[in-house]
Amino acid sequence: MRKTALALIAALLASPASAEILISNVNGIQVGPDGQLQHFGALLIDDNGRVESVIKVPTPRAKRYDRNIDGHGMTLLPGLIDAHGHVLDLGMTQMTVQLVGTSSIADLQQRLRDYAAAHPNDTWIIGFGWNQELWPDKRFPTAADLDAVVSDKPVVLERVDGHAVVANSAAMKAAGVTAQTVAPSGGRIENGLFVDAARGLIDKAIPARTPAQSDEALAKAQQQLLSVGVTGVGSMSTSIDDWEAMKRAGAAGTLNVRLIAYISAARAAEANMRPTGWLYDDRLRAVGVKLFADGALGSRGAWLKQPYSDKPDTGGLQFHSDAEMLQLADAAASHGFQIATHAIGDAANAQVITTYEALSKKYGRDRRWRIEHFQIADPADIPRLAPAGIIASMQPTHQTSDRLMAEKRLGPNRLAGAYAWQTVLKSGAHLAFGTDFPVESPNPFPGLSAAVSRQDMKGQPPGGWLPSERLTFAQALSAYTRGAAYAGFAEDKIGSLEPGKWADFILIDRDPTKVDALSLGNTQVLETWVSGKKVWQRASAATPSPTERGK
Ligand SMILES: [Zn+2]
Repeated sequence: MRKTALALIAALLASPASAEILISNVNGIQVGPDGQLQHFGALLIDDNGRVESVIKVPTPRAKRYDRNIDGHGMTLLPGLIDAHGHVLDLGMTQMTVQLVGTSSIADLQQRLRDYAAAHPNDTWIIGFGWNQELWPDKRFPTAADLDAVVSDKPVVLERVDGHAVVANSAAMKAAGVTAQTVAPSGGRIENGLFVDAARGLIDKAIPARTPAQSDEALAKAQQQLLSVGVTGVGSMSTSIDDWEAMKRAGAAGTLNVRLIAYISAARAAEANMRPTGWLYDDRLRAVGVKLFADGALGSRGAWLKQPYSDKPDTGGLQFHSDAEMLQLADAAASHGFQIATHAIGDAANAQVITTYEALSKKYGRDRRWRIEHFQIADPADIPRLAPAGIIASMQPTHQTSDRLMAEKRLGPNRLAGAYAWQTVLKSGAHLAFGTDFPVESPNPFPGLSAAVSRQDMKGQPPGGWLPSERLTFAQALSAYTRGAAYAGFAEDKIGSLEPGKWADFILIDRDPTKVDALSLGNTQVLETWVSGKKVWQRASAATPSPTERGK
């Protein structure tokens, strides 16, 4: 009896996490090293969760494996890697007032009212996701709009792009902001709206997240990411508290999304932090720092070479002088960090390219300097990327979300280098894709759809916006797998299913090479596997699922 129980325990321990697994009868699709699509029919995973072999056409088995899983012809892709997301912020959006998709200021006020009523014990009310561009009058919210709903405790609501917050009077009082307060350089204050550098005046007063809140946010974010097929993330603007939460999850064995962390440059300097190697079986690594060259287009914080077409008295916000930018980047590079710099406007992009050109001369080429967003570039600057080894880290759904706003901000004659994915690739530069979640949904499939169509999920505009910038599906998938892995110095571990790399993959409900762009964007993930282990499965009886045969 006792012996039987021990044998059973031993058998349980030996399976399924540490066993050879053959996943057969799948429609496997990935991008090969030549950039072309590769098709395969089965995947053999070794007992450490790494790919043993990728099998084109499964032959009758010469060998019996510990586990045989029949994929019933389902489509299998490598796990998708979001090169630029905000992991803890994604989780926090599920723990604060959700304002994504609000249709008016009245709608924002209603959601705030409902949240306040449901959370009477919150000492501060934090919210995220409003975008005045989606509202009929396109007016920014004010402190008075918030005071009309909640006046007895501080309220701070962040714009969807993170580049502005609106605060009520109680929050401004708590932060010591008065009518006499002057906005710092690189920032702006308007009726309770704090743009870019000015938001620091309010942020510093907001109580810090507790470790328990951070742990909960990380867990929620991981569940959401796995459910849309994301198995790796370039974790941008990671704070030291975020990093500690990530390490706690790694140590506890609950980190299922691989996180390649870019620490906020100022925080890394304060904490005297240095890059790390891979930790927790390649689940976590601090590889870089994040810098900012400008703000965002929506709040006219993006720094342009020429004034805004719809506000000619401003050209946006320049965050640093050229000398200051070089000094900041050089300091981080000298500590061995990769550098990822946010640049949206064409002037900001030119400044960052010039900075990286200087760093490349000093540090050599394979430092993989990254520009985050690279949204509006002067076409003359795009050919400067590849020679300096600069990666363009871009977000296809920003193009579909921003298109009409970009036309207004820039006018018709400045769009040639806007969201110019195909031009970037043709210039020979590396391209990595992501979403910038929670600014956009973390779901990569609407992004893949936008990448191949230059249309949103309503099919707008017909024919696609600046359609010469469309990518092929292979190019788009590559930017979301191989390109994103390269951008994070992780291409030896993830980004493709090749012998020795981790068996991180997803099973999806359709063949993305055989459907139109709209259907591609609506792809549903059925299962997500990391290191050869199923870590997420769609809970629905209606969807087919792989079946496991006995030995
Ligand atoms: Zn971001």
